[in-house]
Amino acid sequence: MPRPEPHDGAGSPAMPDPDDARSPAAVPDPENAASHVHPGGPPVVHRLGPVTLTKLSVSAEDNNAYLVSVPGAQILVDAADDAPRLLELVAASGDPLTAVVTTHRHWDHHRALAAVVAATGAQVLAGAQDASELPVPADRLLVYGATVAVGDLTLDVVALRGHTPGSVALALTEPASAPNPGRVHLLTGDSLFPGGPGRTWSPADFTSLMDDLAERVFARFGDDTVVHPGHGDGTTIGAERPHLQQWRARGW
Ligand SMILES: [Zn+2]
Repeated sequence: MPRPEPHDGAGSPAMPDPDDARSPAAVPDPENAASHVHPGGPPVVHRLGPVTLTKLSVSAEDNNAYLVSVPGAQILVDAADDAPRLLELVAASGDPLTAVVTTHRHWDHHRALAAVVAATGAQVLAGAQDASELPVPADRLLVYGATVAVGDLTLDVVALRGHTPGSVALALTEPASAPNPGRVHLLTGDSLFPGGPGRTWSPADFTSLMDDLAERVFARFGDDTVVHPGHGDGTTIGAERPHLQQWRARGW
């Protein structure tokens, strides 16, 4: 499988072919780690006991927005574009949107941030080194080891430096009553995709990202951890782990 199209936020991202090898009929499998969605298409919904993780693709850049919902509260990860659709998704549960987390500074990940925040009053959260690049001021700066609460659920912030200085991933652990208690879902933004790390623009940034991925992701999370990236299909840590050295060697 070719390397996923890197997303540099600088324009001309490739439009994924919706007629790729994955059959559309196979799409809405909630236990499929790939959880394929396409721009304008229906969301994929993962039901994790009291927690619902909804993935929706928006815009020509195939940006993924993720809604984490528990009874009484929701957060959105990357208000990437198409505020009306995102707000429709938020409104479906009837629970308030307490925060929007932006995974990193690139333009394609926060085009609907201002509109979503204006409509919901949600707090704006972003990595400390990227927050000043967002179109609206951040209410809270996220650092490695911080947590983000969604009702009774606590997500762990995993800072990953390289694609941008302030990129953050969020780790959601399935609660006891979920199908796979303890299994982690990692929302990685543009820092980790099926087939490799996100794009970097210097050898130092590449090394930084690989070091953080090795120490903060692969050394910490088990093979059953599901990776939900900021564009395209998901993967698992187990599927990617055998390739870490290969990525280091090739330099991207
Ligand atoms: Zn990016």
